[in-house]
Amino acid sequence: MKERRSVNASLFRSFILSLFEDMATKRDYYEILGVDKNVSPEDLKKAYRKMAIKYHPDKNPNDPTAEEKFKEAAEAYDVLNDPQKKARYDQYGHAGMSGAAGGYGAGGPTMDDIFSQFGDVFGDDSPFGSFFRGANGGGGGRQRVRRGSDLRIKLKLNLQEVANGVEKKIKVKRHVTCTTCGGNGSKNGTAVQTCSTCQGTGQTRKVVNTMLGQMVSTSTCPTCNGEGKLVTDRCDTCFGEGRVLQEDVIPIKIPAGVAEGIQLSVGSKGNVPPRGGVAGDLLIVIEEEEDADLKRDGNNVVFDLYVNFVDAAIGMSVEVPTIDGKARITLDPGTQSGKILRLKGKGVKELNGYGRGDELVHVNVWTPKTLSAEERSLLEKLRNSPNFQPKPNKNEKGFFDKMKDFFHG
Ligand code: ZN
Repeated sequence: MKERRSVNASLFRSFILSLFEDMATKRDYYEILGVDKNVSPEDLKKAYRKMAIKYHPDKNPNDPTAEEKFKEAAEAYDVLNDPQKKARYDQYGHAGMSGAAGGYGAGGPTMDDIFSQFGDVFGDDSPFGSFFRGANGGGGGRQRVRRGSDLRIKLKLNLQEVANGVEKKIKVKRHVTCTTCGGNGSKNGTAVQTCSTCQGTGQTRKVVNTMLGQMVSTSTCPTCNGEGKLVTDRCDTCFGEGRVLQEDVIPIKIPAGVAEGIQLSVGSKGNVPPRGGVAGDLLIVIEEEEDADLKRDGNNVVFDLYVNFVDAAIGMSVEVPTIDGKARITLDPGTQSGKILRLKGKGVKELNGYGRGDELVHVNVWTPKTLSAEERSLLEKLRNSPNFQPKPNKNEKGFFDKMKDFFHG
């Protein structure tokens, strides 16, 4: 008798401990759905729909956090939507929901539990209803074509490639359909049979007689996981996955005028899903490499030209870099520092347009920073020469007017 009590006591203690564990890790059901205790059934449903859409596994592939949240929301809705469970939760919290009390165990509801709820949460006519039905092969026997994940890569382009457009061959590792089995994952492509549990529909239906008539509840077939087919002998090449990882070279045409951060998409060059379906897209994110000489300013490019004041005073012919190689320009005698020369059409092509920007050559007259004794005496002789005295006339625009001209002229 004494021994038995101690066994019961230790069982009781571990039960209490497990409750504390649950209470410590579980979030409040109202907090999960963002509603308060007096929430109406309609608002509760609305709040749950929002969460279910946000964290739906189809929208968040391979994201365990999203799946956790998805399950958490389903569990919270299941409890708060049931007046009896809600009353018990309100009184006792998570402790009232544990184990024998009729709530969920540590694992919470299964995905099947959750999807079988969707019929009443989203309704058959709502777009969400069909979205979720499709995603899980639900009611109506419609099968959605499964789509693989997108692949995203970064592509660095130099200024010339950006300005003129370029064709590139890009190497990517992607999941492609296994050619041995044709994508169904079975040996020689033939060792596959229709799932006998669901007759190939991917879902099981349960008819329940109630006072209101017959209710049909559907859930993902547990035998085939909703695929409707079972592989009896696995393909040796892909080990039943129906796809293999392969390095592909994909040619793509980058239009002229793209900019940092622009994303281009190549249809159906992403991954195919396991056991058949269509491939996702290949997404290319553009990165611009900085040019050593030319700075891009919208569709224009800017070059800073430095000349000595003798060249500026006498005039000269000089080569400047452009996007497409060198170009020769002439500086008139008496060119002032700050003058901007425009090379028409030497800029970046307009994205999706016919225009093209210009190259702006910004003249900077260099003043010597150190002088030898000889240089100094030569310059001293010129110091008071009349032509060396600044005499800006009305046509000699200051920096401010020049900028105004370029932005509004
Ligand atoms: Zn295969």
